[in-house]
Amino acid sequence: MKAFLISPGDNLIERIITYLFKEGKDYSSNLVVFPGKRPSHFLRKRLAEIEGSSFLPPRIFSMDEFIDYVYSEVVGIRRRLEIIDAIAILYEIHKDSRDPFGNKDFLDPDTFFPIGVKIYNDIEELCIEGVSLNRLKEFDSLIEETMPPKSMRRLQSLSYFYENFYKKIEDSHYSTRSSRYRDVSLYIERFDFRVFNRIIFSGFFGLTKSERLMFNYLKEREETIFFFQDGFGIDLSSLGIIVEKEESYPSKPQIHFYKSPDTHGQVFGVGTILKEKILMGEKIDERTVVVLPLAETLFPLFHHALNLLSPGQYNISLGYPLERTPLWALIKTLMELVLSMDGDRLYVPYYLNFVLHPYIKNIYFEGQAETTRILFQTIEEVLSDKKAMKFITLKEIEEDEILETFLRERILGKGENISVLRLKEHLRSIHENTIQKVLYFDNVGEFARRIIEFIQFIFENSVARLHPFFYPYCETFIAELDKISRSLMRNFKFKTIGSYFNLIKQVIISSYTPFYGTPLKGLQVLGFLETRNIKFERIFFLDLNEGVVPEIRKEDTLLPFKVRKILGIPTHLDREKLIGYYFDILIKGACEVHLFYIENKEKDRSRFIERLLWEIQKKEKKLDEKEYLKWIQYPITLKSQKPRDIEKSPEIVTFLRNFIFSASCIDHYLSCPLRFYYEHILELKEKETVSEDLEREEIGNLVHEVLFEFFKDKIGESLSEKDMNLEDLSKLVFKHFEKRFGKSTTGELYLLRRQVNGHLKDFIKDYQIPKIKSIPTKIIGLERRISTKIGSFHLIARLDRIEKRAERTTIIDYKTSANKKFLSINFRKLNPDKRESWTEAIPTLQLPFYLTVYSQFTGDDPQQMDGFFLLLGRNIIDTSIEVPLYSEDLERRDQFLILNRIIFSLLNEIIEPSIPFSASLRRRESCLYCIYQHICTN
Ligand code: SF4
Repeated sequence: MKAFLISPGDNLIERIITYLFKEGKDYSSNLVVFPGKRPSHFLRKRLAEIEGSSFLPPRIFSMDEFIDYVYSEVVGIRRRLEIIDAIAILYEIHKDSRDPFGNKDFLDPDTFFPIGVKIYNDIEELCIEGVSLNRLKEFDSLIEETMPPKSMRRLQSLSYFYENFYKKIEDSHYSTRSSRYRDVSLYIERFDFRVFNRIIFSGFFGLTKSERLMFNYLKEREETIFFFQDGFGIDLSSLGIIVEKEESYPSKPQIHFYKSPDTHGQVFGVGTILKEKILMGEKIDERTVVVLPLAETLFPLFHHALNLLSPGQYNISLGYPLERTPLWALIKTLMELVLSMDGDRLYVPYYLNFVLHPYIKNIYFEGQAETTRILFQTIEEVLSDKKAMKFITLKEIEEDEILETFLRERILGKGENISVLRLKEHLRSIHENTIQKVLYFDNVGEFARRIIEFIQFIFENSVARLHPFFYPYCETFIAELDKISRSLMRNFKFKTIGSYFNLIKQVIISSYTPFYGTPLKGLQVLGFLETRNIKFERIFFLDLNEGVVPEIRKEDTLLPFKVRKILGIPTHLDREKLIGYYFDILIKGACEVHLFYIENKEKDRSRFIERLLWEIQKKEKKLDEKEYLKWIQYPITLKSQKPRDIEKSPEIVTFLRNFIFSASCIDHYLSCPLRFYYEHILELKEKETVSEDLEREEIGNLVHEVLFEFFKDKIGESLSEKDMNLEDLSKLVFKHFEKRFGKSTTGELYLLRRQVNGHLKDFIKDYQIPKIKSIPTKIIGLERRISTKIGSFHLIARLDRIEKRAERTTIIDYKTSANKKFLSINFRKLNPDKRESWTEAIPTLQLPFYLTVYSQFTGDDPQQMDGFFLLLGRNIIDTSIEVPLYSEDLERRDQFLILNRIIFSLLNEIIEPSIPFSASLRRRESCLYCIYQHICTN
């Protein structure tokens, strides 16, 4: 045996090559093993360069591959269990136990799954570290007195699983990764190593007990060579291997530190440096690596730095978490929809979320996606109009008549040669292949196959596959689901559909999609551990923050730290050592290093940056670290910009002269002229959506309908108490609820109906009856829509109720709100001659506008009229729900004249060409909730 400790500046691959045994072009009598897979590509490539023609390569393995190779020789062929199989076995053991773990808490397979993952990971660690069952049991009793009862119970359970699981897989001729390591370490002498002239193990650090046993055996063989790399924390004393320290090549990398406020700053930093290098004609090839310890930085990097290179000039090799992929987001949306179903009825907001997902709304119809987009946007519009309808069946959507009419206008109206029948078939087919696909199935295996079919449908029929990474996502998803469908859990049946989704979720959150690029070509983008044992000349290392490098893992184990220490199982401290070691080697082996970290309120730089900085400061005897740090900053202007004025073009003026003004338009103008411009001239409106809450507006409309129908037979008559029949009112409430929300009312609707019914009854009992008792009242109009012309202005108004109270005509507007703050005019603050006082003193001109329009229309004297709002949303209904237009302190006549003058001044201001739409006239708080904030300053 020979063993070498080489410098990180030295090239491990080159060192190995010097020791390979070779006969002509035949290297096949060499066995080379690395901890991971990646260095094997580099070794093969280098040999190909040396040989210049075809050659017989060495047997090169990663450690896992080596174990599988030897295992099949010394033990035989045994199926290696997937994690889901292992959990199915653990579950059976758990079920058969007389005293199941967690008592009854984990009796269903889906509730057992997460705890099963922990148990499995722990027993696999115990197995690979060769912890004997007796040791574990001995350990149980050893710590019985010091351990809290809960933890003690866990350990006893763990020994139960440990004992029974490996017995069971042995009997069933299965294996796991750890059982293979254990068996190979126990039976390694059965393997015939004589076929190899050289056995080279290189680049190892932090061995498991099974690996140490193998090394112990191998170190006795003459043909064995170990290569270790000298780095931070390496300690070979426990291996009993005497190493030769070879002549080292001192490495002096140029290290640059960059501090950035966020991820984007880092990737812009990488992009800028790459750009400079490209401009200077430097080669960006496989000797340059971008290390991404956080997979989520991949996409910002892809869009802002890798775009400087063509696709063949870089290679991405890292595991990307499946739960971060858009495909998982889609499956989650499907899951949310299916889980929210009430019988066969779908929850409308979730249905829309699903069908408006880009992968669904872009399903091809006869080779193009536009028709499907129009189809689902139209469905959104139709369902948004039925805001109150919260649940709907697929059949109801497919057969909706309004949808059919809209589709005729939108698609067929454009002259497309498509029939409504075909569109409906298309919609039905999408429903069948997506939502309905996952509604009916028998067991876990069938459910997984249904999800596979769903993914395949999306892949084959939607634009999703045009996404550059969609194919690898799909492949990994299908592979994981396929494992589930063939697993030992495939025949399990769960009680609820949610449990099936939950199982898929548990598998997905622990899976990664591997991006295997062309490993030897172009700039390498790698996860941190993928860099092991490879020497790079130029390094960009991102996200060097505490918690990322080294990673702080949530202790997902049932074994407490102290217990791990005693049993000799690795702890998070060992993991940190391993990261520190490989980081050290990577950096010291390079010539040019760019280290990026984020510094903000939540993030601190990594301890590895601290250490490097301190070493440099010590060496250069400088106290201030600032001169080594570069800051990445954006040119951000924090000062908010002033909204621009909008001048009135002749076209706008013509448009305004023909405009039909309502009270709300004038209110909008008064609150902010720019808002009026965006809303009524550009017609930029917020898209109507189906929200999860029943809309206030929807309830308002229902109340209006009920009150209209209740009073409509009484128009022209004096109201009397005997006309106020509360039972009739209740019937109307029920009738209109059914009309708007459908027959079947869910809990939410049931409560709301009760609430509205009670409130309207209170309105009649505690407001209407006392009112008609105190003043003779006759209704003269309900829900009247009036349009008229005053001067050159077209005006329109919709009046909820007009009545005669004694001799005065009174206009009433129902409000479902409870707050009079936004309705009462403050006459004390109002100065008719000061334009700026109008916005602050007048929250709304609705009532004076109605009085103006009504009086013009009927010829009545507006000064003989009253107006008020009725606050139907108040908790307590009595006569104080009236919010009168006029103040008691002043003559009503004067008040009307002032308000009337203000209305016409505003109308003239709106159409005046020389007065731009300007935010300088806005109400102070108007911007707070304004939907145009983003456009009016740009
Ligand atoms: S954000 Fe402010 S200034 Fe801009 S339109 Fe809205 S209210 Fe007017």
